Amino acid sequence: QQKLDSLQTADKQHFIHPFTDSKDLAEKGTRVIDRAEGVYLWDIMGDKLLDAMAGLWCVNVGYGRQSIVDAVAKQMQQLPFYNSFFQCSHPPAIELAQKIASLAPKHMNNVFFTGSGSESNDTNLRMVRRYWDLKGKPSKKTIISRDNAYHGSTVAGASLGGMSGMHEQGDLPIPGVVHIAQPYWYGEGNGLSPEEFGLQAAQALEAKILDVGEDNVAAFIAEPFQGAGGVIIPPSTYWPEIKRILAKYDILFILDEVISGFGRTGKWFAAEYFDLQPDLITIAKGMTSGYVPMGGVIVSDKVADVIKQDCGEFTHGFTYSGHPVAAAAALENIRIIEQEQLIERVESDIAPYLQSRLQELAEHPLVGEVRGLGMVAAIELVKDKELKQKFDSKTGVGTFCRDACIKHGLVMRSVGDTMIISPPLIMTHGEIDELVAKATLALNDTYQYVQG
Ligand code: PLP
Repeated sequence: QQKLDSLQTADKQHFIHPFTDSKDLAEKGTRVIDRAEGVYLWDIMGDKLLDAMAGLWCVNVGYGRQSIVDAVAKQMQQLPFYNSFFQCSHPPAIELAQKIASLAPKHMNNVFFTGSGSESNDTNLRMVRRYWDLKGKPSKKTIISRDNAYHGSTVAGASLGGMSGMHEQGDLPIPGVVHIAQPYWYGEGNGLSPEEFGLQAAQALEAKILDVGEDNVAAFIAEPFQGAGGVIIPPSTYWPEIKRILAKYDILFILDEVISGFGRTGKWFAAEYFDLQPDLITIAKGMTSGYVPMGGVIVSDKVADVIKQDCGEFTHGFTYSGHPVAAAAALENIRIIEQEQLIERVESDIAPYLQSRLQELAEHPLVGEVRGLGMVAAIELVKDKELKQKFDSKTGVGTFCRDACIKHGLVMRSVGDTMIISPPLIMTHGEIDELVAKATLALNDTYQYVQG
């Protein structure tokens, strides 16, 4: 307790936390996590927590992988850092680019490395504008995104994202980024069938292209399903219609797979899951399972052929682009996913089990909808199931439920009143049973809370 007290005091005095409500932090103190193994975390008091969030949607291979530690240590001894600017390279980054190209959709054979998902989306913005400049169409600059999307926290990332709370702070979005409605059928379907609504939501893209002028639109950016927005999965009609519209107007397509990449849907990339052929794919998180920070953009041959032609330099890059230690971690992470056949296991076994067990929670009086695919899911909490009526945001139902989960030894994230599940891909049936049992206890506590 003494150690916790002194850490919490120091934390309060010196640490500015990302995405943290300062009132909450002052009242409850920080939760200090000390160690982890497999799918479990232990806090500094020794309390064990089942991590249904894989850290922050990223620890795909689970915690405590000695072979990643060894690969990182070996690389640190061999070459802890070198850059990839000015015609320089090094084996881990070259091997990783080649490996990712072999896993990506067939028409994508190049990678631009970054340090995070946010940097990757900044890269996308600059790369699509560079592409159209080189193609002799410099007016094609605008990027269309979606409300409630999350594409990172840098100025470009937060602008591309559609979170109003982020836009309010810092005069965002920057010029040249516009948004259309998200395909959120449960909350905004307005009596339409999912198929009708999906079509309508996709057609908002065409209306926006015509509004901005097709000669001014560079790209459309989207997550295959919106993650931080509350696991919003588009109806089946959505993506085919989006594909038709993008082809009709010659607009580049950026698919942000920071969450969905590296196995979460039971495919290497959700592009395959949804039959999409993006021009650029944003990657991070599961690329290294979060052991070391790393991100990147997988680039299609169509774009790479233009960017890499003899046309001068693309004046863009980060000191840590292709960092050798991060690349070594990513290579070992990918080796584990392949060797343990985690993706096949997700698709054929563990994801169907997770989704079917979670569907049982839909019966709970507090639960409006349980939705999910692969190893990601959301439980949306509502005041009235029949009317799909939401709670007043001041009630803090999601936050209460998140804290109740912790009390029962489970980590779920809340997005408003939607509870999020995105566990490591190694979860067993028994651990999923434990997850569902603990989530039920937390839902019961939350139900009592809202009943007053
Ligand atoms: N894109 C998506 C879809 C994300 O979910 C995230 C992070 O959650 C990002 C981009 C930003 O990644 P990072 O936090 O590594 O900058």
